[in-house]
Amino acid sequence: MSSIIQLLPDHVANQIAAGEVVQRPASVVKELLENAVDARATDIKLIVKDAGKTLIQVIDNGVGMNVTDARLCFERHATSKIRHAEDLFALHTKGFRGEALASIAAIAHVEMKTKQDQDELGTHIVVEGSKFASQDVAVLPKGTSFSVKNLFFNIPARRNFLKSDTVEFRHIVDEFERVALAHPNIGFVLYHNGSEMFNLPMGNMRQRIVGIFGSRTNEKLVPVKESTEIVAIEGFVTKPEFAKKSRGEQFFFVNNRFIKSGYLHHAVMAAYEGLLKDGCQPGYYIYLDVPPHTIDINIHPTKTEIKFDDEHALYAILRSSIKHSLGQFNVAPVLDFERDANLDTPYDYQKREAVVPNVEVDRNFNPFADEAIKGTATASRPAGSSGGFGNTHFKRERQPAWESLYIGTNPASEEIADINFESEEVTGSLFNDNEVEDTDYKTYQIHRKYLVSPIKSGLLVIDQKRAHQRILYEQFLRNITVQHGASQQLLFPLVLHYNKTELDLIREMKEALQNTGFVFAEINDDHIVVNGLPVNVPESEVSILLEELISDLQQEVPGSSFSQSDRIAKSMARSLAVKTGTALSGKEQENMVNALFACKEPDVSPFNKPTFITVSVEDLDKRFAI
Ligand code: ADP
Ligand code: MG
Repeated sequence: MSSIIQLLPDHVANQIAAGEVVQRPASVVKELLENAVDARATDIKLIVKDAGKTLIQVIDNGVGMNVTDARLCFERHATSKIRHAEDLFALHTKGFRGEALASIAAIAHVEMKTKQDQDELGTHIVVEGSKFASQDVAVLPKGTSFSVKNLFFNIPARRNFLKSDTVEFRHIVDEFERVALAHPNIGFVLYHNGSEMFNLPMGNMRQRIVGIFGSRTNEKLVPVKESTEIVAIEGFVTKPEFAKKSRGEQFFFVNNRFIKSGYLHHAVMAAYEGLLKDGCQPGYYIYLDVPPHTIDINIHPTKTEIKFDDEHALYAILRSSIKHSLGQFNVAPVLDFERDANLDTPYDYQKREAVVPNVEVDRNFNPFADEAIKGTATASRPAGSSGGFGNTHFKRERQPAWESLYIGTNPASEEIADINFESEEVTGSLFNDNEVEDTDYKTYQIHRKYLVSPIKSGLLVIDQKRAHQRILYEQFLRNITVQHGASQQLLFPLVLHYNKTELDLIREMKEALQNTGFVFAEINDDHIVVNGLPVNVPESEVSILLEELISDLQQEVPGSSFSQSDRIAKSMARSLAVKTGTALSGKEQENMVNALFACKEPDVSPFNKPTFITVSVEDLDKRFAI
């Protein structure tokens, strides 16, 4: 019998390998940018059209290639970066596998122009689906330019699998930011569809961070620096007061390579222990330098995960150096209560109000007390809605040294997190109803969580938070899709700052948000100006509402089938719904029950959780029959 095993032709092998290397346009961006960095460029331009689906071009002023290398670089396992297996343990370059260009050329139309400094003329090569289409001599500047057109032209399934331009471009910006952050000493420019999105001149780390994330970032940064034998740490973390609900800007770089590490993330979070509000995340930009032989970057094909020799030591060093920085810049609450905070406060912080620990504990909280208490330091209510639930403003009566209760305990422990239930504030009266008199309604609120009401067949128990989410969700969805929501004009326009990616998302959502009642006076390069709000959105909630909305959209599972309106309505309903722990007046309880059962789908929350249950008289009878 004849043999049946054959070696695959190169172009087929390349196409298969391409599947690993190139998942989407952003993967091409990453490979080309890294090659330009490896070529010691000092200026790198990235030009993108239609989120990379039409064109991705990277132009660098690096070392370039001679004719032979220009031809060879498209071969699989063709690399100038390693020669021996041992070199893998002393890597100073981004690339080393020699498969990126072969892979990209297998699934796109690639045009390369390259020239070395000492050469008079350069090389111009066109490759289409692994086939060399042309090769010429050309007059070129020093450096290399790669144009990648018609990505996945020969794999329609992959092409169809690509997401919307907005999503794909967001991935490109992510990769661009990572490479640009890793190399502040290189100038980067990014153009998309002819407009300049980023222009980052070479500079230091802080300038690079501010260049990418906006000038408002500067005041948020606390420097971190530590040098030990096994690692040198440099970078910035954000002050706890600027922590966000979204994970947002969190970056680790190891030897100038962006990496992901849940373990190191944990170390950072541990350094912030007790300083962050529930569910909030700091931003960080941490650069670690370790001896190349102590890491293995080879364990993941797209190389964002690496393995360290001594992870535990790294964890401890990272955690303590961040803790130290937070303490030194006095952004941490004084953990040592004996110390006079004024004595060691840096000059420019002297006049500032001391930052109070963000762990919100109401020592007087009594779950059995009658009056409404809500645990928030920033509660403010929209004018005209003084009625409604939660009439009593929560006063932060700071008992002297209450903190001492917790000395030696872990402030992030369950116990305190529990007392701190719901730091979110109430968002205005549910139904714009100013009446508060508690007449004889047949609903009872228990544990500030459930509404209980007798019904014909027995007992109805409603989860107040989920019910309100359902009510608001349908209301927002109606406003977005059918009719325009009413708007309240703001006396003083609100100015809110965002980075470019976030602003793109806001632009994308602009129309839907306007339908809910938002009025945008401006959507600018680094901020927006809001002139009007939906009637049921209090001013104090706007920034958190938009932040959560952005974060929801950013974390959204790609390809989820829900419409944008649906996602916005869901996110806003979640942000604004009355929380567990909020006392509701009798009238509000009644309104909630009525509004819930007026909904199209009263029995589930927008997140598919039951909003109420019923207990039949028979069930009750059974339980008593024992
Ligand atoms: P790797 O980066 O893993 O070596 P690539 O397929 O990305 O593999 O690139 C192959 C080779 O082509 C590189 O090793 C390098 O010698 C050369 N090369 C690629 N891009 C550039 C560039 N922008 N400037 C100079 N040389 C380049
Ligand atoms: Mg490479």
